[in-house]
Amino acid sequence: MFLKACQCGIQYASVTRSKTRLELSFTRTSFYNMPCEAVAHFLILYGSQRGQAQSIAEEICQQAAEHGFTADISCLSNQDKYNVDSEIRPVVFVVSTTGDGDPPDTAQKFVRKIKSKSLPHDHFSHLRYALLALGDTNYANFCNGGKTIDSRLQQLGAKHFYATGHADDGTGLEVVVDPWIEGLWDSLKKTFSSMATSNQQGTDLSDCTQDNNSKNASNQEKNKPDLEVDLHLLKLSEVDSQKEKTITSDSSDAETLSTVLVASLKQSVPPLSESALNVPALPASYLEVLLEQASTEGETVPSKDGYHEVSISKAVQLTQHDSVKTAILLELDILEQNIAYQPGDSFDILCPNRASEVEELLLKLDLQMQKNCAVQVNLLKNCSKKAAKVPLHIPQNASLQFILTWCLEIRSTPKKAFVRALADFTQNGSEKRRLLELCSKEGSADYNSFVRDANVCLLDLLRAFPSCLPPLSLLFEHLPKLQPRAYSAASSSLQHPGKVHFVFNVVEFPARPEHPARTGLCTGWLADHVSSILRPLGTVPASEHLGTSALPKVHVRPRPSSIFHLPADLSVPVIMVGPGTGVAPFVGFLQQREKEREVNQEATFGETWLFFGCRHKDKDFLFREELERFAHNGTLSHLIVCFSRDEPDAQGIVNRPTYVQHNLRLHAKNVASILLKDKGCLYVCGDAKNMAKDVNDTLLEIIGNELQVDKLDAMKTVAGFREEKRYLQDIWS
Ligand code: FAD
Repeated sequence: MFLKACQCGIQYASVTRSKTRLELSFTRTSFYNMPCEAVAHFLILYGSQRGQAQSIAEEICQQAAEHGFTADISCLSNQDKYNVDSEIRPVVFVVSTTGDGDPPDTAQKFVRKIKSKSLPHDHFSHLRYALLALGDTNYANFCNGGKTIDSRLQQLGAKHFYATGHADDGTGLEVVVDPWIEGLWDSLKKTFSSMATSNQQGTDLSDCTQDNNSKNASNQEKNKPDLEVDLHLLKLSEVDSQKEKTITSDSSDAETLSTVLVASLKQSVPPLSESALNVPALPASYLEVLLEQASTEGETVPSKDGYHEVSISKAVQLTQHDSVKTAILLELDILEQNIAYQPGDSFDILCPNRASEVEELLLKLDLQMQKNCAVQVNLLKNCSKKAAKVPLHIPQNASLQFILTWCLEIRSTPKKAFVRALADFTQNGSEKRRLLELCSKEGSADYNSFVRDANVCLLDLLRAFPSCLPPLSLLFEHLPKLQPRAYSAASSSLQHPGKVHFVFNVVEFPARPEHPARTGLCTGWLADHVSSILRPLGTVPASEHLGTSALPKVHVRPRPSSIFHLPADLSVPVIMVGPGTGVAPFVGFLQQREKEREVNQEATFGETWLFFGCRHKDKDFLFREELERFAHNGTLSHLIVCFSRDEPDAQGIVNRPTYVQHNLRLHAKNVASILLKDKGCLYVCGDAKNMAKDVNDTLLEIIGNELQVDKLDAMKTVAGFREEKRYLQDIWS
């Protein structure tokens, strides 16, 4: 069996090479008449916040060579590396979106530059470009980072040579990204041909967008696979071995036979298991990792980047022990560090990867003995990856254990390029075939079900494919930076000087065939970290008896919001919608209001409405006493609550409101009047996936009914609220 797999491997390699050669010679012929150097050369510019846009841009750069092009690649922030003001090559932009529909930090300077009012209307008339925008439909202003750049380039005369792609992280970026990249090559070829022709004829290129729009879809079908990998022999050998396994384990058991045919992370079924595969090109490796028995000096991550180490002075479980979710309030002591914040701001918290997962990863990589070695990371000499650099989030001379614990998101879902690369370090033929299937075009549905939607991480793959033994350099190349988690301040420093509170639910992911049960990385860690001082609501804090040195510590960094604050004008009415932990910033708002009311007794205060919801009144009504106090002393004009899982009350109200949007509907007249007549503000905080969308739909309905207009006009009015910063969201998924 092993021999068979090896023979198949040889077959696979030779087919791949010959197809690639064919493709290249075709490409060269089609560009024969063009001025060679300038012709097939284009530029890729990316604006990335968390590395997604960068890795897609790199993927495009990588694929370019296979299609007979060469590409330069640069981050938009490196303005000395490119000049779009005079760029004659086609440019491909890949731009993500962050915050409230903003371009990523790395693109901010570029955006400011192209937005300059002094630029003439034809400033970019020389520019031919394509743009891939990344976003998430769970958030407002989908793909707005890319759209902002796109519309400004258009205003200044730039022309699309290929229709803009809008990829949605909510449903899976690859759903749009993969076909978009596939269609790009044809458009580039045509663009270069037209450029060559217009150069010869002295004519100008026209906008290719329309052409692309209609042809984009057919491209995906028509395009010949660039790297058609014929794995039939490998597949047949697997089927043989599978048959053998079934027969030897229990040939009479019909159930065994049928379970063999169910697809899973580890195994495919026909037609995929019998299909030839189009796999992505193997990403070029570019890092060299050296492990030395030396002192580890680089272990300073938390103190960098504006983080402060602070004590957790209080930890209170806000939910009852039998509640479905566990919500915990933490109080951080920020007096010494002099950290300032306002209600509406958030804090970034650094959390480590789970020690047990780091240990298991070291074991799987056969590196436990080297975990305390100092790590040196260098660029490979002569690496072919464009703009390759050593990732900044991997410090030099830190120990391997430290890097795996604090620097890399080892729980991230491996992208197809990573799966592709892992396949090359997998000994077993069947396992290798399955990994290639998962990253192939034909195996997209399996990748979505068993990797992406199952939130599989590297460790899950190494468990499922035990003969996979990747080198450390591959992990460093593909695992993204471990990101801090943000939490909204749930307090006002007017009421709690020197302290900040926040509240979180311990995220729980049940066991699935692809991975064991686990808790969210940060929330699970925090819950464990504060267990020694955690107390139920209403009991005396154990931490009061502990000295500061005995308190658990955490690294935090303020994350100020530019807009999510109470209006400066105290008379403006506000509506707050915050079910579950979404109530956090509103507790801060109301603490601030309570103090302002004490200090400014003469002032006129606008009405305050809070729409809160949870499952059970007696189990998870967060901040109940405090909110009732606000309602009692007039800080809160209206506290409107609903409980989605409580039985109807004794009076048997059947159509009681279940979720916050139902209560909004019940108070539609007031909501409409506050927004339309009193120019009030609506704040929404919490779950992005369901709640924020439902609230938005309800708002459209309320405004539509009140103004007697259709949905489109209601949407325009609501968009106006957003622009006036009167409809503000702080939502997360
Ligand atoms: P992670 O391990 O990061 O998992 C979270 C997500 O990863 C899941 O939602 C899911 O999409 C995916 N995921 C990973 N593994 C699996 C799996 N096995 N199965 C299914 N899905 C999986 N949260 C609060 O509780 N309170 C707040 O006040 C708060 N404020 C925020 C403010 C801002 C500005 C932002 C951006 C976020 C805020 N959040 C808040 C969310 C918070 O930052 C974290 O995202 C959240 O606590 C989960 O973190 P985690 O590390 O525990 O989960």
